[in-house]
Order: sequence, then C-alpha cells, then structure tokens
Amino acid sequence: MGWEAWSYTILLFIVGALFGSFFNVVGLRVPKGISVVAPRSSCGGCGRQLNAIDLIPILGWFIRRGKCHTCGSPISPVYIVGELAGGILFASLPFVVSENELWIAYPLVSVLLILTVSDLAYMLLPNKIIYPAMLLFTGLRLFIHPLPIWHYALGFVIGGGTLLAVSLAATWMGKPAMGFGDIRLMALVGLVMGIKLVLLCIFLSALLGSVIGVALIASGKLDRRSPIPYGPFIAVAGFICFCFGDPLMTWYMDLIVWQ
Ligand SMILES: [Zn+2]
Repeated sequence: MGWEAWSYTILLFIVGALFGSFFNVVGLRVPKGISVVAPRSSCGGCGRQLNAIDLIPILGWFIRRGKCHTCGSPISPVYIVGELAGGILFASLPFVVSENELWIAYPLVSVLLILTVSDLAYMLLPNKIIYPAMLLFTGLRLFIHPLPIWHYALGFVIGGGTLLAVSLAATWMGKPAMGFGDIRLMALVGLVMGIKLVLLCIFLSALLGSVIGVALIASGKLDRRSPIPYGPFIAVAGFICFCFGDPLMTWYMDLIVWQ
C-alpha cells in the first residue's frame, strides 16, 4: 500500500471510531427514549459530565485508565469495544466490498453496530432503528442493485418469514421463541442482501449462536435457561455474508460437488 492508501485507511479508522462512539450512545439511549444529543454523557458513578478528554474515542479510555478520574468508578469496556469495532470496520470496508456496494456497506455496518449494542444492553432491537433502516435500504436498493430487484424483495419476505415460522414452531413446542425484533432484523438483512445471502445468514447465525451458546454454558458463564440475545449473531453473520457471502457459497458448493 502506498502512503496515500495508508492515510485514507487511518482517516477512515478515526472517523469510524468517532461514529462507533456515537453508535454506542444511540444504541444505549434510543431504546430508553432518551435524546441522542442532550443531555451530555455523564459518569454513571458520580454524575460528572464527560469532557473532551473522556470523549476521545479509544484513547480517552486509555488516558483515564478505564476509570472515572473524579470518583474512580470503572468505565465499561463496552464503549471501547464499540469504538474499535467502528474504526476497524470503517477502515476495512474498502478492501472487502466493491466500490458501488460501499454506499450500502457503511449504512449497513452502522445499523448493525447500533442494534448489537442495544440488544446486548437491553435484549431489544428497537423499531425506532429498524423501521427507518428498512426505509433507507429500500431507497438505496432502488438505485444500487447488482442483482435484479426482486432478489431483494424476496429476501425481505423469506428472511422475515423463515424466522417467523421458526418462532411460531418454537412457541407451539413450548420452547422459548425468537423475538419480533430478530424477525424484523432478518427481514432487513434479506432486503439488503437478497434471497441467496439471507438464507446463508440464517444458517450462519444459527451456527454461530449454537456454538457460542454451548461454549458459554459449558464454561459456566451462562445458565442453560437464561436467554441469549440473538441480534448480535444475526449482525455478525449478516456482515460476513455481505462481505464474503458469494465466495463462501462457491466454496461450499464446490465442497458438495466434489464429494
Ligand atoms: Zn465518576
């Protein structure tokens, strides 16, 4: 990479970290109905308003050594994780996504980050985020669609429909069902990626969910009966499918054909 590409990448990382910091605020405040601009963020321990140094993404956490400098109460590492994720994702998208699809990729990553924060914090995927996102991506897909437009419409219906069917079946068998938020999120993934990739996303999110769920239960970090938010698994699987879905499908098809 030349110096120009490097400086773009570093700039994108910084912008992504700033956005990541904002996505944390959105994901934590919108479900509670608090404005994302006012009041300014404050320490959960002493109520001190955060100043410019506290608010520098990533570095602020290190300068304060993960603690409020007035009262010493710990600052949740969740913040720095969100900021790092924003930085890394924003900087890496141009390397893994075609130029046209970047118009879809940046809003998609933003929505997925916000929803992940909200689902991890409150087990909630707020409609206030999902519905505007559906509207936005419908608009974007009308203009940018590498596949025929019906792929995306069908993706929306089948993505949401499959999860709804699974949820109804689970309820019928007396098992804990998925939330409507998960169903809506999978419909959104289908709308963004089309029918082929949403099916891959359903498979991959279920695989991720069971592997990590079993690992958490086996390591004693989680009770067998305690609910796990499913949104983050859909978000991670959706991101993987969006960036690497087509090569993944080709690889998988080759695997089947050769056996
Ligand atoms: Zn404090």
